Amino acid sequence: MERTLVILKPDCVWRGLIGEVIKRFEDEKFNVIALRMLHLSAEEAGKFYAVHQGKEFYERLTEYMFGSPIVSMVLEGEKVILRIRELIGATDPKDAVSGTIRKKYALSGLMNVVHASDSLEAAREEIAFFFDEDAIFHYQRREGS
Ligand code: ADP
Ligand code: MG
Repeated sequence: MERTLVILKPDCVWRGLIGEVIKRFEDEKFNVIALRMLHLSAEEAGKFYAVHQGKEFYERLTEYMFGSPIVSMVLEGEKVILRIRELIGATDPKDAVSGTIRKKYALSGLMNVVHASDSLEAAREEIAFFFDEDAIFHYQRREGS
């Protein structure tokens, strides 16, 4: 089963949207198999977003992502990497399709609620950035009471 790494960014936490966003994932039958609240240091934020080093928004991005509580999680499910990217929508909410999480909640192209891995390789690296294997769990969905 495929896994992806999702981060609920500071603007998600500040605005009390943690539950809303996780509910969207759970409603799509993706399992949350690891979950953690933390602060990134400036250095960690820079390292996590190292692929964007040199871009004009890099400084703003790392500044925004460090020192505020974020929630990182691993989601598991069929084609979860692609499907979560579809569910969250385009980076800038102006470009996002209606019904997507960013279209509904993002404040700007920077403060856009949620991060999700964009490839198998990124997912593997990003999961390892936040979680040891023994912090990742497995369970089956059971419907009803
Ligand atoms: P995504 O998060 O959709 O994968 P990118 O990987 O391109 O988007 O960028 C990483 C993050 O950097 C974005 O989610 C957003 O917070 C920020 N960002 C990207 N492009 C811009 C931009 N043009 N202006 C401000 N912030 C940006
Ligand atoms: Mg990206």
